Amino acid sequence: MREAAHAFRAASRRVGLVPTMGALHGGHRSLIRAAGSSCGAVVVSIFVNPTQFGPNEDLAEYPRSPERDCEMLEAEGVDLLFAPGAREMYPTLQAAWVTVEGLSGKLDGRSRPGHFRGVTTVVAKLFNIIQPDAAFFGQKDAAQLAIIRRMVRDLNFDIEIVACPIVREPDGLAMSSRNAYLTKAERKQALVLHRSLERIEQMVRMGEIDSRKLISAGREKMGEEKSVRLDYFEIVDPETLDPVKEVSNTTLVAVAAYIGTTRLIDNVLLGKNF
Ligand code: AMP
Repeated sequence: MREAAHAFRAASRRVGLVPTMGALHGGHRSLIRAAGSSCGAVVVSIFVNPTQFGPNEDLAEYPRSPERDCEMLEAEGVDLLFAPGAREMYPTLQAAWVTVEGLSGKLDGRSRPGHFRGVTTVVAKLFNIIQPDAAFFGQKDAAQLAIIRRMVRDLNFDIEIVACPIVREPDGLAMSSRNAYLTKAERKQALVLHRSLERIEQMVRMGEIDSRKLISAGREKMGEEKSVRLDYFEIVDPETLDPVKEVSNTTLVAVAAYIGTTRLIDNVLLGKNF
C-alpha cells in the first residue's frame, strides 16, 4: 500500500482516501465521487475495525459484501482498494492508542465507550500507511467527523479533511450499512429519526431557537414510534459537541435510536446547505 501510494505521489497525483467498513452504498459512493473530483488518485479502504466495536456490539454480524463492493469500486473507477485483515492491521496487541480527550465521550462516545478511541486509532494508522493528501468523511457520522478534525489538528497530520453531505433514501432514511439489519416493519419505523429532525428544522424556520423546546419537540416526535428506543437527542456545537442553549448559524442537531436491536444515527446541520 505504501509503495502504491508513493507511486501516485511520485506521478504528481493527489491522493484521496475514503475510509470505510464496506457494505458500500450510495453514501460511500458520494464520498468516492467527491474524492475523484479533487484528487488524481482515489484509494478506498475497507476494514471492519474490531477495536471500535464494544464487547456486546455487532462486529461478527456486521454486513459484509466484498464482491458487490468491488463492483461498485470498479464502476466508480477507484484506483486502489486497501482491504487489510485484522491481523495485518493489528499484528500484535495494540499498545499505542490515539484518543481525542473530551470529544470522544460525547454523543455516540457516551453510549459506546471506547468506540472513538478505536476509530481515531485506526484512522491514524490508515493515514500513516497511505499518507493521503485528503481524506473524505460523511457528515452522517457528525461526532466522528468532529473528532477526526480535532485529531488532525492536534497531531499535525498534513491531510485535508473533507466533509460530504448525508445521502438519503428517497423516503428520507439516511443510508447506512446497518439498514440491512432492519425488517420491513422496522425500516418504516426508522423513518422517525429523519421526521424528528425535519420537525426541528421546521420549527427553526418558524423562528424557534430555544434548544430545550426544540429537543422536547424532537423527543416527542421520536416517541410517536413506540417500539423505537431513543439513545440521545441533542443540539450541540458541531466542533466541540457541547450542548448549546440556542440554535445559531452552525448548530448540529443529532439523534441516535435503537430500532429493535439496530442502532441508527442521523443529524442535520442547521444554518448550512447540508
Ligand atoms: P462506514 O462504512 O459506515 O464506516 O462509513 C464510511 C464513511 O462513509 C464515513 O465517513 C461515513 O460518515 C460515510 N457515510 C456513511 N453513510 C453515509 C451517508 N448516508 N451519507 C454520507 N456519508 C455516509
